[in-house]
Amino acid sequence: MVKEYKIYALKYAGPLKSLGAFIMWNMDWDKVVDRNYYIWCIKGNGENIIVDTGITPKLANQLKLTGYVNPAEVLSRININANEVNKVIVSHLHFDHSNGVSLFLNATFYIQQEEYRFWTRDPIATRPPFAFYLDNDSNGYLKSIEKTRRIQFVEGDHEILPGIECLLAPGHSIANQAVAVNTEKGTAIIGSDCGHFFRNYQEDWPSIFIIDLVKWMKSYD
Ligand SMILES: [Zn+2]
Repeated sequence: MVKEYKIYALKYAGPLKSLGAFIMWNMDWDKVVDRNYYIWCIKGNGENIIVDTGITPKLANQLKLTGYVNPAEVLSRININANEVNKVIVSHLHFDHSNGVSLFLNATFYIQQEEYRFWTRDPIATRPPFAFYLDNDSNGYLKSIEKTRRIQFVEGDHEILPGIECLLAPGHSIANQAVAVNTEKGTAIIGSDCGHFFRNYQEDWPSIFIIDLVKWMKSYD
């Protein structure tokens, strides 16, 4: 019997105003859109697996994030104590997804090896277009535990539990990963930044921060 899970999308900040062209690459320059920040929880079979970590109160304060709620508090709304979470999948190491790793003191983090190597070892990650997303706080935290069991490096597609599989989905980041989850309605994909709006998927059109457009299109497939 294949295991089934439920997925919760949990908003932790927003709405934030953006140019439409930020969400739909090179389109909608004259539009302003609202967007929100989310983390996700995969619940079932005695597991509470969190996908992405959100942002700590410290950084939210610096960024003056509209509508911010501490991700740990958001989880408490579905009766999850962040200190008891033991598995966190980090889709990629942009600050809005990884800054909150220190909120999960007892978690093991599942991160693509190549994504981690780029953001912690490659000097190009410090150049201006990348530095905007570079997060020294969370990368420093991850480096401090990188030789412990609290980091599991994933290479490519990898099932971490029956019915939950990390899928390498590059394009937006060097080694972004999505998560395929078995649910009662079939396989659901948590795409993270593979698409910021449903329009990205519906119109086969990525958003603005592109590492590799060809790989992005293949990630959609
Ligand atoms: Zn991103």
